[in-house]
Amino acid sequence: MSPDHIEADTSRKFSPSKLNTYRGCPRRYRYHYVDRIPRAVETAEALLGSCVHEALEKLYDGLLRGKKLTLAETLEAFHAAWRAGWSEAVLIKRSGLGPQDYKSVGEQCVRGYYEGHAPFDEDKTVAVEKRLGFPLEVAEEVYRIEGFVDRLALAPDKAFEIHDYKTTANLPSRQDLEADWQLVLYDIAVRHSWPEADQVRLVWHFLRFGKDMVLSPGLETRSALLAEVAALIQTIKSDHEFIPHKSALCDWCEYRDICPLWAHPEKVKAMSPGELKRDEGVKLVDQYAVLESSKKELKEKLRQIESDQEALEQALIVFAQGHGFSSVAGAEGSVTISEKEEMRFPTRAQAPEALEAIESELKGTPLWKEVSRLDTHRLLEGYKRKEWGAEGLEIIARLLARHASHIELVRKKILRFHRRKDAEAD
Ligand code: SF4
Repeated sequence: MSPDHIEADTSRKFSPSKLNTYRGCPRRYRYHYVDRIPRAVETAEALLGSCVHEALEKLYDGLLRGKKLTLAETLEAFHAAWRAGWSEAVLIKRSGLGPQDYKSVGEQCVRGYYEGHAPFDEDKTVAVEKRLGFPLEVAEEVYRIEGFVDRLALAPDKAFEIHDYKTTANLPSRQDLEADWQLVLYDIAVRHSWPEADQVRLVWHFLRFGKDMVLSPGLETRSALLAEVAALIQTIKSDHEFIPHKSALCDWCEYRDICPLWAHPEKVKAMSPGELKRDEGVKLVDQYAVLESSKKELKEKLRQIESDQEALEQALIVFAQGHGFSSVAGAEGSVTISEKEEMRFPTRAQAPEALEAIESELKGTPLWKEVSRLDTHRLLEGYKRKEWGAEGLEIIARLLARHASHIELVRKKILRFHRRKDAEAD
């Protein structure tokens, strides 16, 4: 059993952000939700988002109680949250920016929203920071899908509206929003709590851009999402390794110091020149880098030799043809020139249709049995990538079970060397 193996995730409750964490990186999910490793790291982006949320929560909470906060009071709610949250420990990852830059973006978000929606009578607020959820049956077990909605409102046409505030610096496309699970799951939760709800609208407020985007997913979208969520929960429940997934998200991950992909590079970043010289890992990788460079040089040399040889072969053919020779002698040996005929078939990459036509003609003949072979690599690649559909997967799973004694599961370690960008420039 690998040292990374864990028995199972015992979760019974899943929020959209928890599910998204797994989709982004199973290892980060494990650290946060299974191992529950505490991390107090807060980024300036996260603080900005939470302070803006707090100010707008206070604004609508006041409205629910019959008190309308002025713009100055709403901004003060933002400032109070900022004062409480800001400390030297808050991480600013974007170079060239300081706390004041983030604070003024937050102020602009609050001001823009306030001025764009005052006097706040477009709808009737039902609740702010409302917990919503629903049960979901997965493989005969019942799980709960649950999360917090920024604001739930009733529009004049009696549609429920789920409002979500975003302070992100990027404006997503409509396709991005359609692929976003979070609000669709809240849509399902609203329909669960209010079965009479006929229409539910999802409203995103992209506060930095002063832009609202609205979607109303249909029944088909909701059903497909439930199936996807159920499949994901099954995957999570059967995952015992939680393999790290390297992506742009790693730049923001709070577990880099323990993640197998980043722990050593992070440690090396903080080392003095003396420590670098003594570190066993650094020494091994530096030796590896030397071998990689030698390999690259040899490969280039080989390519050059092959191209020189090709040119020489042409010259030899011309010489031999010009004199009517089929063998040319040198001091160290001789070169014999002969001819052979070869039939070239189309390849799948060059002409897939032509190849298919040939294959289908051959399939009707007894020759097919002689010349066709099982492509196990393709079979298993498709199995791993779930390309064969449910029936195909079942056939392969059966096959693997029945021939288990002949099919070996080999764990191969793959080493890839990444040269540092600044090292390339040296
Ligand atoms: S650093 Fe990247 S790979 Fe490692 S846990 Fe975090 S997100 Fe996953």
